[in-house]
Amino acid sequence: MGILVIGSVALDSVQTPFGKKDDVLGGSATFFSLAASFFSKVDIVATVGEDFPKRYVTMFKNKGIGTAGLTVSKGETFRWKGRYDYDLNTAHTISTHLNVFKDFDPQVPKNLRAPDFLFLANIDPDLQYRVLQQVKRPRLVACDSMNYWIDTKRKSLERLLDKIDILLLNDAEARQLSGESNLIRAAQLVISFGPKAVIIKRGEHGVLYFSKNTHFVAPAYLLETICDPTGAGDTFAGGMMGYLSRSKAVNDENIRKSIIYGSIMASFTVEDFSVNRLLEISKKDIQGRFKHFRSITKY
Ligand code: AMP
Repeated sequence: MGILVIGSVALDSVQTPFGKKDDVLGGSATFFSLAASFFSKVDIVATVGEDFPKRYVTMFKNKGIGTAGLTVSKGETFRWKGRYDYDLNTAHTISTHLNVFKDFDPQVPKNLRAPDFLFLANIDPDLQYRVLQQVKRPRLVACDSMNYWIDTKRKSLERLLDKIDILLLNDAEARQLSGESNLIRAAQLVISFGPKAVIIKRGEHGVLYFSKNTHFVAPAYLLETICDPTGAGDTFAGGMMGYLSRSKAVNDENIRKSIIYGSIMASFTVEDFSVNRLLEISKKDIQGRFKHFRSITKY
């Protein structure tokens, strides 16, 4: 039933209209694993530098997240610096320092090589591919990426797309990858690269799901307070895959429900900086929002 994730574990510096934080815990694998841990057992494959605060590793462990594949490498932790203006849907990257990820050779610990679900969270697509090659084909492989990798490693990304089940992207990235501005056509083109389905994240406008036979539209959970959207996409993926990994079958009905759980988890992350909200909430809070979501979308 376990989920394996490879992605970044990072120190982020983020500025939004509502405040500024430096060197706070971030990274695609971080948000993903914390969100998924509410539903399922998760193990991380990633690396951090010698400067990475030990208390964060302890926090992962306390949340039941497996850290056997989280190594400490010589050098500095991956750092991302970004800014959001009043349009919180668009992240402006100020700098990306790969640091220890530059020479990272991911090794999946032997006892984790048969995961039920695999999430290739946003990181160099060559690293995502190397992890995929080390594991027995999981029941579901999903993958995230971003403009940075579409720009700099397109070929590597295309090689990967042929081997996965679900690709998650935001709307700008779906347009960039497909070269098509209409999102329905963009999704069809992305599916023609290999994945069985694509999920297009549209921030406060919700999520679109497309597979060969069906599509599904989900609004975002309505919030009065949005502080920092960093990690919303990864948190969405964690909630979605976490819920799905607990379901008996990966079918259309369960995928739809998992998308709602993903949206609910993301709604918590954006209410504060870094992972602060994910560390405060309980399963009861998640269920409360799930029920409320149902009531406001029913007609
Ligand atoms: P999201 O807002 O869900 O798209 O993800 C934000 C997280 O992605 C931040 O915590 C960053 O540390 C991380 N991130 C930003 N750029 C990259 C990159 N090029 N590769 C891997 N992770 C990244």
